Amino acid sequence: MKKLIVANFKMNQTPSQTKQYLTKFIAGFTGNRADVVICPSFLSLPISTFLTQGTLVKIGAQNVNDEEEGAYTGEISAQMLKDLGVEYVIVGHSDRRIKFKETDRLINKKIKTALKNGLKCILCVGESLADRNTGKTLEVIRHQIEEDIKGLYENELESVIIAYEPIWAIGTGQNANVKDVENAAKVIRKVIFDSYSEKASRDIQVLYGGSLNEKNVGALLNCTGVDGGLFGKISLSVNNFLDIANNLK
Ligand code: PEP
Repeated sequence: MKKLIVANFKMNQTPSQTKQYLTKFIAGFTGNRADVVICPSFLSLPISTFLTQGTLVKIGAQNVNDEEEGAYTGEISAQMLKDLGVEYVIVGHSDRRIKFKETDRLINKKIKTALKNGLKCILCVGESLADRNTGKTLEVIRHQIEEDIKGLYENELESVIIAYEPIWAIGTGQNANVKDVENAAKVIRKVIFDSYSEKASRDIQVLYGGSLNEKNVGALLNCTGVDGGLFGKISLSVNNFLDIANNLK
């Protein structure tokens, strides 16, 4: 099965830069080795869904509001994203958990609203360095997943992807090792097994994210139980990301 690779541009790339990026990416992407989702800023979504229409490249948003609609000045709803042709949304990224104080309860609501509107959710979970140093990694991941997907029906899990993103590895150049990633993937599947079924635990897509690059991507994305990766910094270079997308082993 092909791996799923997701680019999170965060607050980088203007709409014009995204246009240039995607034009080059679409022309060079073979689609033989990986499925690709690109998550640019909200403002770049219209040009992104326009340019990728009928291509192998899928578009995701980096955030969504938990409410359907109403007096939430400055916010973007799931329905708006869906209307634009956006297929995925990242929820629970540590940038949002930490810098925007998003709680598991809010993340759970965002996931429910996104799923109701036909979006696929890429749920990020992962421990801090302090959690890791005190041996709480697996406990933290379990707790986040249990809270974040609380109340979902088993069939809804088909539209949920879980990304293990240890906070200490994001943007630091310090990636997790194969053993860390395999243990996290195992616990993610165990949580799904305990709350749902053996089938659901097998079928759920699990990604790794945190300082992935051309050198470590082969080993980390081929860990047992891992179906793909979430890329930050390296995905901002179209040449590097194309190279990864086209040559993934
Ligand atoms: C991220 O922000 O989700 C991420 C994985 O970033 P980086 O690849 O830069 O560590």
